[in-house]
Amino acid sequence: MSYIVLARKYRPQSFKEVYAQDHITEILQSAISTNRIAHAYLFTGPRGVGKTSLARILAKSLNCVNGPTITPCNSCSNCAEITAGTSPDVIEIDGASNTSVDDIRELQHELLYPASGSKYKIYIIDEVHMLSKNAFNALLKTLEEPPDNVIFIFATTEPQKVLPTIISRCQRYDFKRIPIDSIVQRLQEISLMEGITIDTESLYLIARKADGGMRDALSLMDQAISYCMNNITIDKVRQIFSVIPNQIYHNFLTLIYEKNAQTLINELHQIFEQGIDLQEFISGMQDFIRILLLRKLQVQIKDINQDEQVMFDELAKLFGQNKLMYILSYLIACKTDLKTSSNPYLILEALMIKLCKLDEMEDIAKIIEKLNYGSITQTQPISNISSAQSQPVQSKDSTKESAVKIPDAISKEETTVVKLQFTQDNLEQLWQRILTRAKKISQMCAIALESTTSKKAEGKKLCLTVEGNTFYNCLKTNLEALESSISELFEKPVKISLHLQETEPPTKVNIQHTTLEDIKQENPEIDKFVKLTDSVLVKTL
Ligand SMILES: [Zn+2]
Repeated sequence: MSYIVLARKYRPQSFKEVYAQDHITEILQSAISTNRIAHAYLFTGPRGVGKTSLARILAKSLNCVNGPTITPCNSCSNCAEITAGTSPDVIEIDGASNTSVDDIRELQHELLYPASGSKYKIYIIDEVHMLSKNAFNALLKTLEEPPDNVIFIFATTEPQKVLPTIISRCQRYDFKRIPIDSIVQRLQEISLMEGITIDTESLYLIARKADGGMRDALSLMDQAISYCMNNITIDKVRQIFSVIPNQIYHNFLTLIYEKNAQTLINELHQIFEQGIDLQEFISGMQDFIRILLLRKLQVQIKDINQDEQVMFDELAKLFGQNKLMYILSYLIACKTDLKTSSNPYLILEALMIKLCKLDEMEDIAKIIEKLNYGSITQTQPISNISSAQSQPVQSKDSTKESAVKIPDAISKEETTVVKLQFTQDNLEQLWQRILTRAKKISQMCAIALESTTSKKAEGKKLCLTVEGNTFYNCLKTNLEALESSISELFEKPVKISLHLQETEPPTKVNIQHTTLEDIKQENPEIDKFVKLTDSVLVKTL
């Protein structure tokens, strides 16, 4: 006997065998029990989650000799024909290959004939969004006045492409991706029934790779069986699916923690030699760090098993959250660079060296942060990679969080200050703090506020005179945010009154240092940092 693929062999044949779509099966069963059958259903959701399987189960429930019933017998000729796809009364149409108006006309013509041996004539149209617009319109006519005892079940992975007029005539059910745990459970049951031994790691790996689709999971399992026969092990499964073992990433992260650039580069060269796809390698590392970050936040992750969880938790202890974010930002940028680079090896080598020097760079970031209150803002903490902009600065002591503040954060002392009366003196006194708060709204907002030519506390009002339309409009746009931010510093809410002073020049930015060269000369560390990271210094407040 030839091998029947698992997806077919274990296709769900009853409502209770449909995995992880209880929100749908329950409603359908209730509708069948109470005889409230709709004329048209629309099943939407990702591929391989059970849409057409459920359509067939629904068809059987209606056309079984015992039907309508929520437990079709699966043995009567009607049920058997539907299972085999040969029922004359359950017509399955693939929207992808029957898209013309002629096909729909044929369908309309056929609708004139009643069901031959069943209660209902049921049309299951898969990938209904693929039908042409004309075919849709022809179909719509039928849907407007459906013949008695005719039921349409449409399935689609792209409901946004289905005409709203069709959707509005259907009962719509959105299928979910199947959770990893449910897929693992099902794979386990099937391997038992098939007499196959498979380790938990393999089950999880297959489930993860199937990305929420049961059909894909079973196809992957077929592949594993054909390669490993009755004994599936994680090593072989990794070989089949070219998956990089977590242990390799664990090793890389440990070396990064130890700042052991030499060994790290050697390990990297081994990856090169093995011919591993470098994009895949970086993607895998991103996933690995994602899990580390989530475990650091004590988020339960369903797609890793107990052993892996312990491994991740141990490793997560070595890194601060900021540092992980920083590494992640490098990886994301690296992936983009890899796409366009003619020398991917160089990019990865440079990446590994940078990741080993994170702390060194962070020391300088700290110095910059201290100076931040003066005249400089570090705009590009990360090298010449656009996608990595505005990533948080990593902390030096990796076991402590937030050693380095993200620029613009409200200072700690501020949170402990008592609220003051809104007077001119207090306004002047708190002005720097107000600017820091404005920076949180936007850099431009802070510059605009800094550039006001006069600021006066008059009663509950803060009267600001602004030069130039740009700054005036910026403050006006952010007025509410500014008011509430400033109000938090004073005993009573403060309202802002803006006055536009139309004079030249339109913009004025206070720069305390003369040139960036001066800054670099006064602070050699900054110069070093800029060179090391290809950062750019800009003058702001
Ligand atoms: Zn039956």
